Parts: sequence; C-alpha cells; structure tokens
Amino acid sequence: MELPDYAIEAKGLVKTYAATKTTPEMRALRGVDLAIPRGSIFGLLGPNGAGKSTFINILAGLCQKTSGTVSIWGRDIDSRPRDARAAIGVVPQEIAADPFFTPFEALEVAAGMYAVPKSERRTMELLNALGIGDKAGAYVRQLSGGMKRRLMVAKAMVHNPPVLILDEPTAGVDVELRRQLWAYVLELNRKGVTIVLTTHYLEEAQELCDQIAIVNRGQVVACEPTTTLLSRMDTRKVLVTPDEPMTAAPALAGFETALLASGGFSVMYRTGQSTVEQVLAAIRAAGLHIKDISTEDPDLEDVFVSLTYAAPEEVGV
Ligand code: ADP
Repeated sequence: MELPDYAIEAKGLVKTYAATKTTPEMRALRGVDLAIPRGSIFGLLGPNGAGKSTFINILAGLCQKTSGTVSIWGRDIDSRPRDARAAIGVVPQEIAADPFFTPFEALEVAAGMYAVPKSERRTMELLNALGIGDKAGAYVRQLSGGMKRRLMVAKAMVHNPPVLILDEPTAGVDVELRRQLWAYVLELNRKGVTIVLTTHYLEEAQELCDQIAIVNRGQVVACEPTTTLLSRMDTRKVLVTPDEPMTAAPALAGFETALLASGGFSVMYRTGQSTVEQVLAAIRAAGLHIKDISTEDPDLEDVFVSLTYAAPEEVGV
C-alpha cells in the first residue's frame, strides 16, 4: 500500500459556529490550509480561542466543518469518514474515564468500538507500555490523575492508528509524568506514528516538535520546521558587563540599548543588518571597556509573541 505524503491535509477549512440567543456568530476557522507530514511530531500552537480545538474536533468527527476539505492518511473525511477516523487516535483535553470500568475493561470496550478483533487486541501491552499494567484490574476511580491520563493515551491507541493527536496532553501534569508521557510519544514516533499535539508549553514544543504551525484567530500565521521558525527571529541581544557598573544605558550609534539590573547593559541588533563586531566597535567607540560579554538567542516564546500579537484595536474583529 502506498503511504500518503501527509498524515493530515486540510484545504480552505472554514468553521463558523452559528449565533445563539446569547452569543454572536463565531468564525473559529477562516480558511485553514495545513499539511502535516507523515512521520513528524507536529505542534499546533496558538493563544486561547485561536481555533485549535475546533480543528481537532473536526478531525475527530466531533464537529461539522462549514466548508473546505480535510483528509486523514489520504482518506477524505466526507467521502470516507469511517476510514479517515480509523487512521487517528485522539487524546482529548478533558479526562473522561468511566468510573465503573477497570483500565483493562476500558481498553477492551474502546477496542470493541473500533471493531478490533479479539486476536488483534494489545490491551496488556498498551497498559504496560504506559506504566499502568499493575493497575489493569483496579477501578478507574481509584487511579491518580496522572494514571487516568495515561489510560486516555492507551485508549486512543487501541486500534493502532498511524496518527495520534494529543490535545494539551501535559496541562496540569507533574514533571515526572510529563517526562514519561513524552518518552512514550517519542517511542511511538520512532515506530512511525505521526504525532500532532497542541500545547501551551512553548518550551516543550520547541524541544519535541520538528514542525510547528502557529494559529491565530482562525488562521495559520506560520507553518515551518521548528529550526526555520526560530531562525526567522533575527533579533539578537548582546549582554555586556562593563568594567564599572553603570547607572544608565549608554547611547550607542545605530543600536538600541537598555540598562540591566546587574549594572551592565544589553544591546539589540538584527542579524541581517549588523554583526556582533559592529556592536563591539560601537561600544569601544563610546569609550567603554568590556569585562564580560554574552549573547541571548531568541526562543519560540519570542516568535510566538511577535506572530500572535494583536494591537488592542484589532482584538475582537
Ligand atoms: P482554542 O482551542 O485554540 O482555544 P477553540 O477552537 O476552542 O480555540 O475556539 C475558537 C473560537 O470558537 C473561540 O472564539 C470559541 O469561543 C469559539 N467556539 C468554540 N467552540 C464553540 C461552540 N461550540 N459554539 C460556539 N463557539 C465556539
């Protein structure tokens, strides 16, 4: 069987929530084009209300799109809805576990819903992989929050889908469990599973995702390999400790400077326009002596803020 280039492909995707008595019409997705490469760990980032959940809910079949096309694993969600859905597992944001099932039963029920034959079920294997094998027979209500979350991941994988979608998987999760979840996700990815995740933790996205789309107010404002996205930020900061602590930032021709609490100062420059050498020359020309110097790289936080910043008068349009 030929594998698709893209695990998920959306073209011109629009979602408008109809007005209700209390809320106006809401255009949650305004023509989203997104191609998620097969085999990637793809991050979907954006501020609250950007449309991330709406996008995921459309993929999961929980929300009807208004227009546009979407295919999952090369299967169009309109013409082949069942096949499309069989290709993804979705781990929802909310923990929704039936309190009366044991983890073992919960996975068996989920596998039954996907019509996975008994001989092909991997219930214990999944529970063990997620470190809750010893809880297979416990009541779900007796599990900790972290264990429930791991059970949700296992449930999403019962039909062995080639694409796994995680909606804010580590929100409110402690550091140790987060590490464990990521280890499992990375292992799945190594085995060929395409991972799509939304997260508020930019550091996490920067560390894990090879490609990132930033969504803002229903539109994709950037979609690039993580390294390209980071290199787009061409602002660099040089942190200077002078021989003598300063009480005001020095004026340097052509550069923006700021005083640091340490008595040193920072100098901003753009990589396309200047070099560190020019910054140093300007400092020397101002008659200052440098004791120490370091540079600060931009991170995803800087990119995110610069791309999703909305001027006050734009908000709510
Ligand atoms: P995100 O997941 O990025 O926070 P959402 O997809 O939840 O964004 O929301 C996008 C926009 O659509 C928001 O303005 C939200 O209020 C609105 N919205 C989401 N779900 C509904 C719904 N069921 N009915 C009406 N509006 C909704």
